[in-house]
Amino acid sequence: MRYSDEIIDEVRQTNDIVDIISQYVHLKRSGRNYFGLCPFHSEKSPSFSVSPEKQIFHCFGCGVGGNVFTFLTKIEGISFVEAVQELAERSNIQLPTIQNDVDTAKEELKAKVYKINEFTANYYHENLYKPESKIAQEYIKKRKLSNETLKSFQIGFSGKFDELYKALKQQGFQEREILESGLVNKNEKGQYIDRYRNRLMFPICDVRGRVIAFGGRVLDDSKPKYINSPENVVYSKGRHLFGLNVAKKGDIKRLLIVEGYMDVISLHQRGITNVVAALRNSNDAKSGVAIKKTHRTNNTKF
Ligand SMILES: [Zn+2]
Repeated sequence: MRYSDEIIDEVRQTNDIVDIISQYVHLKRSGRNYFGLCPFHSEKSPSFSVSPEKQIFHCFGCGVGGNVFTFLTKIEGISFVEAVQELAERSNIQLPTIQNDVDTAKEELKAKVYKINEFTANYYHENLYKPESKIAQEYIKKRKLSNETLKSFQIGFSGKFDELYKALKQQGFQEREILESGLVNKNEKGQYIDRYRNRLMFPICDVRGRVIAFGGRVLDDSKPKYINSPENVVYSKGRHLFGLNVAKKGDIKRLLIVEGYMDVISLHQRGITNVVAALRNSNDAKSGVAIKKTHRTNNTKF
């Protein structure tokens, strides 16, 4: 976290060091400099000097010295940034808002997770068309999903064991970022395993169309039928509607809220595009997404 050199200079120039130090130390002029009793060591005769020309202070007794910011950090026990803020306020300088390091690190992690999700959605989607994805292709045929539908919802097929993990590593993503995405888990033996294996994949997007999570449906009788992404830096359950990014391309004055991903997708294919599914706010992923057993209309406005 830091301010630009220009703004720091401006703050320094508008706060005369003699004025500032005089608030803490009784200064007397002697020649070109001011002298006083050093506030940083114990003394009886003044060896603490302040130069108005150079805008610096120096103690000939204990050797402490610096500019107006140094003085404030030492006398008040505050950070450099806090000293800049205090003096800017004193001289009515508006500082730009800057993010602290914690926020910046979080923003960087979020950006990585968005990239991981985007890559993964493409990866799974391309997978769907490969010869080894026969089980998914048969399911799609049975559900009569058109290629256009597969494209607009970017439906995909997840691979085996750690295929996604390896692909993400190859893209240069770090373990920490990959684990944060929730797309890969680490087991007790320290092995990385894809969260979704052999599942039909539904990328979940925010209203801006960024992939924030995934839902995965099994294609055999194994349980659970659906699994969803855990919450992470870019995804919080209950705050998103599946399909809204696609629905909003049409008229959404009225939104139809349905039970699951496949309901949204099949209605969409029949021309009913103002349809979304609520993403369940629970860890129980038995039936994927659901709010009510029966379908109903809502007048939700966006
Ligand atoms: Zn001193």
